[in-house]
Amino acid sequence: MAEKRDYYEVLGVPRDADAAALKKAYRELAKKYHPDVNPSPEAAEKFKEASEAYSVLSDPEKRRQYDQFGQAAFEGGMGAGGAGGGFGDFGFGGDMGDIFGDIFGDFFGGRAGGASARDADQPRRGADVSANIRITFMEAIRGCEKEITLNLKDTCPKCGGTGAKPGTSAQTCPKCGGKGRIRYTQRTPIGMIQNVQTCPECNGTGKVIREKCPDCYGTGYISRRKTLKVAIPAGIDNGQVIRDRGQGEPGANGGPRGDLLVQILVSPHPTFRRQDRDIYSTVPVSFATAALGGPIRINTVDGEVEYDVKPGTQTDTKVRLRGKGVPSLRSGGARGDHYVTLVVKVPTSMNERQKEALRAFDEAMNGIEAKAASGGRKKPFPWEK
Ligand SMILES: [Zn+2]
Ligand SMILES: [Zn+2]
Repeated sequence: MAEKRDYYEVLGVPRDADAAALKKAYRELAKKYHPDVNPSPEAAEKFKEASEAYSVLSDPEKRRQYDQFGQAAFEGGMGAGGAGGGFGDFGFGGDMGDIFGDIFGDFFGGRAGGASARDADQPRRGADVSANIRITFMEAIRGCEKEITLNLKDTCPKCGGTGAKPGTSAQTCPKCGGKGRIRYTQRTPIGMIQNVQTCPECNGTGKVIREKCPDCYGTGYISRRKTLKVAIPAGIDNGQVIRDRGQGEPGANGGPRGDLLVQILVSPHPTFRRQDRDIYSTVPVSFATAALGGPIRINTVDGEVEYDVKPGTQTDTKVRLRGKGVPSLRSGGARGDHYVTLVVKVPTSMNERQKEALRAFDEAMNGIEAKAASGGRKKPFPWEK
């Protein structure tokens, strides 16, 4: 056996270094020489040396022996290295595994390495299921209940979700050792990169099934066509999503089901437009009503309402009908308003009698329009007086 370097020297720490300093020093060396980072044989040797030094110095009892007897403390079957061998065939069994996990827990891809061993067994929430429902404009205003039919996974009743044929059981995946994830090292321009990947053998479950359940073919789930009722609240807008808790896919290892997410698509209305909680529409008004004033009927989401047009109403006049808009989704929320644009209609086809009446009207207005158009107006307009 070659002459061993002093452990303190290997780690580059003073003889009175505390536990934190030892750990820090070892960590730095491991980052440089760990085989996953640096595959050269020299690095492997250095890594082994550092690991050995750390395993001794981080153990108070071994450190005390080492301080007292030096390397001799671990030779001739005295130390923890085992009979005769010292640390010559040093491995990562036993305690070293814990030290290793502790050191590398946040080094290689976060907790992935350490925690994934438990991940595969931990309860996992089922996936969310997305669907959409198309409703009419009025259904969105008033609220409605709709049925939706979709294929939903359910735990297989034959095998209880294990996927294994009844009477058999799933086994720990040999490829990932039940971790559900495997690590691989990739050479890239910036160096060796450690990657963690879902185990392709077991798809991350950590288990493989030798004899599959005949009903679910080993998946643990069966797909059923289900019809669900979805309550759509009054005031829902196009594109909004309703979350129906616990109606998604079943969870794994006793985890809760996912949710059903239903996106609501609202068809446009022929006359109403919506913006947030307000409704907009355009209502035609005859020329005579606009000029003389008078009642008109306006269609709202609550049905027709009567509205008194003021005499002399111009085209594009906006009218607000308070509280005739969309209800708020919050219970007790106020309704928006309905904005109506009054558009004065100019007749497009008239019979002779109507034309005559219009000419007579024009004459009664002293031909103001005609004279104004020809530029020869003599009298001031009525609104200029
Ligand atoms: Zn089954
Ligand atoms: Zn696996």
